[in-house]
Amino acid sequence: MKKIFLDKGHGGTDPGAQGNGLVEKDINYLIGEHTKWYLNKYYSGFQLMESRPGNETVFLQERTDMANAWGADVFLSIHVNSGGGTGFESFIYNGTVTNEDIALQNIAHAEILSTMNNYGFIRDRGKKVANFHVLRESRMPAVLTENLFIDDVNDAAKLKDKDGFLQDVGHAHARALAQFLGLPDAKYDIVIGYFPGSQIDKSFDQAQAAFPNWSMSVKKR
Ligand SMILES: [Zn+2]
Repeated sequence: MKKIFLDKGHGGTDPGAQGNGLVEKDINYLIGEHTKWYLNKYYSGFQLMESRPGNETVFLQERTDMANAWGADVFLSIHVNSGGGTGFESFIYNGTVTNEDIALQNIAHAEILSTMNNYGFIRDRGKKVANFHVLRESRMPAVLTENLFIDDVNDAAKLKDKDGFLQDVGHAHARALAQFLGLPDAKYDIVIGYFPGSQIDKSFDQAQAAFPNWSMSVKKR
């Protein structure tokens, strides 16, 4: 069972960056929720812990303490950039890193950027290194994503597309985690109905004939 630590940046009394009517902590939250939803729907073999499930105020030290104490296998921190620029960039620690850190960044950067590019050209600001607390103090592979610039008008327009852009970007974060950890697919049983015992063999044969590519089994109620 792999352990995913999902860190939605900022929260509570710390709004993060602001611009164009947007607040960073809210966007980080939405991307993180979409990440969680996609992981839960399409993958298995993992547990997930969040630094802030809602709009709680959680200090950076608490975030890395939580992940370290839990023994997370991966640390993902979601942010939005500001300061006059445009595009996407990702960070790992600027000190000693492992091959796993580098692999995590490579996978996440490629998956998220290619998904963003479905919404028009996104400037690739590159795979970067920085001395950020969550990257330095986490004792597991860790990556921080900066998902466009809140103070850029064009970037902000994409960040306002909650059901399109933000959802897809969240899903891309999930696919990156699943690929990095090698998570197995979730499995579902599709229940199509109930049949009386006297008809079950005939009903099953008919269902198989109608859906020849489906894996089917019957279970007594
Ligand atoms: Zn931030």
